Amino acid sequence: METKQFKAESKRLLEMMIHSIYTHKEIFLRELISNASDAIDKLYFKSLTDDKVGLNKDDFAIRISADKDSRRLTISDNGIGMTEEELENNLGTIANSGSLKFKSENKLDEDNQIIGQFGVGFYSAFMVAKKVTVITKAYGSEKSFQWESEGVDGYTVSEADKTDVGTDIILELLDDTEDENYSDFLDQYRLKNLVKKYSDYIRFPIKMEVTHSRPVEQSEEDKEAGKAPEYEDYNEVETLNSMVPLWKKNKSELTDEDYKHFYVEKFYDYSEPLKYSHVKNEGNANYNALLYIPSRAPFDYFSKEYEKGLQLYSNGVLIMERCADLLPDYFNFVKGLVDSEDLSLNISREMLQHDRQLKIIAKSIEKTISNELKKMLKNEREKYEEFWKAFGLQLKYGVYSDYGMNKDKLQDLLLFTSAKENRLITLDEYITGMREDQKYIYYATGESAARINLLPQVEMIKDKGYDILCLTDNIDEFAVKALMKYKEKEFCSVSADDTGLEDNAEKEEIKAKEEENAQLLKDLAEALDGKVEKVVLSRRLRSHPVCLTSEGEVSLEMEKVLNSMPMDQQIKAKRVLEINPGHEIFEKLRSFGQTDKEKLGKYAKLLYGQALLIEGLSPEDPVEFSNLICELM
Ligand code: ADP
Repeated sequence: METKQFKAESKRLLEMMIHSIYTHKEIFLRELISNASDAIDKLYFKSLTDDKVGLNKDDFAIRISADKDSRRLTISDNGIGMTEEELENNLGTIANSGSLKFKSENKLDEDNQIIGQFGVGFYSAFMVAKKVTVITKAYGSEKSFQWESEGVDGYTVSEADKTDVGTDIILELLDDTEDENYSDFLDQYRLKNLVKKYSDYIRFPIKMEVTHSRPVEQSEEDKEAGKAPEYEDYNEVETLNSMVPLWKKNKSELTDEDYKHFYVEKFYDYSEPLKYSHVKNEGNANYNALLYIPSRAPFDYFSKEYEKGLQLYSNGVLIMERCADLLPDYFNFVKGLVDSEDLSLNISREMLQHDRQLKIIAKSIEKTISNELKKMLKNEREKYEEFWKAFGLQLKYGVYSDYGMNKDKLQDLLLFTSAKENRLITLDEYITGMREDQKYIYYATGESAARINLLPQVEMIKDKGYDILCLTDNIDEFAVKALMKYKEKEFCSVSADDTGLEDNAEKEEIKAKEEENAQLLKDLAEALDGKVEKVVLSRRLRSHPVCLTSEGEVSLEMEKVLNSMPMDQQIKAKRVLEINPGHEIFEKLRSFGQTDKEKLGKYAKLLYGQALLIEGLSPEDPVEFSNLICELM
C-alpha cells in the first residue's frame, strides 16, 4: 500500500503535537468528541429534510470503548462520515480545519512547548497515540475507507468494510513513561470524568459500557447462615453526559435548589452560595452565564495561589477552565461560567485575550455583577453585609488600585462603620446624615470602632454632632485617599491639621498662645529628641491632655501599613505631639518649663508615650516609660 506524505504544514503541526510536553494531553478526548458531535449535527440536520437518512434524533450517539489488552481507545459516531476524498482533504492536509487556525495562532516557547492550546483538532490524538486509525463511511456513499497513520512518516488510505454510516477513531495509546501514564485513558473512571469535565453538555449522548458490581443471589441456606454475599461484575451501557446544560435551560424550569446544587458540585464549595444570577444575554454579546457569589472566601483567597476566572464554553463545549479575562480583579471572588456561541472553539489562549467579543462579554458581565451587588445592598442589607465581611476588602483594593481608575464604579458599594451609630453605612448614607454646617466627610483610623471612639481627636467632632467613618482595615485609608471626595464632599481625617471646625477667632487665640509658649514647646520637642516633628498646642482636644497626629501625606496608620510590607521602606509619618492648653497638665508643664528642665523632659516622654498608646502604637522604650511612671508615683 502506498504511504502518502502529509502536506508540509500538517507535518509540522503533527510534530508539534507529538513532541508537545503540554500537560493537558487529556483534551484530545474533548477534541475527538467535539468532531464526532459536529459530524452528527450534520447528519441530523440532513435527517430533518431527508427521509433516507433513516435515523431519529434519539438514534444518534457517540460511543467510547476502551480495551486494556490492545491499549486501544475507540471513539465512534454515527454522524455524516467522510468520503475517500474528504479523508484525504481533512486529515491529510489541514486546509480549512481548526488545526490550521491553531497553527497560525499558537506559538512555541523555548522548550518547544505549545503555549495556549485548545481547539487543536484531530491531530491532538497524536499527543497520546502512537497509531491512529480512522474508519469511516460517508452518508450516501457505497464504500467505506480506512485512514491510518503512525505520525509524521505519513498515512495510508485503503478501502474498508464498515457497513453503517459514521466514523470510528481508533487510538493505539503510547507506552507509559515515567512522566505520563497513557494507560489512564483506558480507565473507565478517568474516561467518565473527562467526559463530565469537558463534554458534559454535548447535545448527543456519549455512551460507554461500564462495569458494575452486584451481589450474587444467595441460597436460602446461605442467607440463613448469615453468609456474606458474593459479588459479580456486569456490564451496562451508560450515558456519561447530561446533554442539556443547566444554564441553557429556562429559568422557569429551574429551582433554587438546582442552582445551588450545581454550584456546590461544580465549584467544590461546601457551603451554599450567597447569591447567584442566571444571565441570558442577547444583542451585542450573545451568551448565557451563571454567576455565583460565594458565602465565604475560599481558604486560599488572600494568597498568591488564588486564581480568578470563569469557566468558558463555546456552545456547550468547555474551552477554558478559568478565563481570567472575564473578571476584573475587584470582582475576583465571583465563580461561575459563561457560554457563548460568539466564540470559536478553536481560539487559543493568547488570541482570546485580544478577542473583541470576549471583551464585550466581560464588560457586560462586570455590569451584571455590579448591578447584582447594588440590588443586594438595596434590598437585602443583611446579606450584603455578610458579603461585605467576606469580600469587602477586595472592593476597597479595587478603589485604590490602578491609580483609582475604577473608584467611580465601586464607591457606592463601600461600607464603613459609623462611629455614631456603630453599624455599617454607605457613603451615601453618611452624606444624607450630614449636618447642615458640616463641610467634610470625617474619618478616623484605628484597630476597631471601639478604639477609634476613644481617640482624643474624635471628641470635638462628635461634640459637634458629626459622624465619623471608622477605618479599621489597613487598606481603608489608602482607598479613601484614592476617592478624595464623594458627591463633592471631601474626606478629612480627624487627625488632619485643619479639620475645618474652629473659627478664625479660635485659630487666632491658639496662635497667640503658641507664640507665648514658644520656648516651652521647643524645649518639649528637644526633650523628645527627634521623635516628633514638633510639639503644638491643640485646638481639637477637649478632655484629653495629648494626642498624636501627623503632618504631610503619610499618616500614622499608613506608616504602620507600609512598614508591615515585605520591602523595607522605612517610611515614617511626620509626628506631631498635640497638647491640650485647657488641660491642667499644661499649667504643670509651664511651671516646670521655668524651674525644672529635667522634669520637663521626663514629662515630655511620658506624654509622648501616652499619646502613642492611645494611637495603638507602643512606646519606643517601654522600660523607660514604665520607670518614669513609677518615679512619678
Ligand atoms: P476542525 O474540527 O476544527 O475542523 P479537525 O482537525 O479536528 O478540525 O478536523 C478536520 C476535519 O476532519 C473536520 O473539519 C471534519 O470535516 C473532519 N472530521 C474530523 N472528525 C470527524 C468525524 N468524526 N466525522 C466526520 N468528519 C470528521
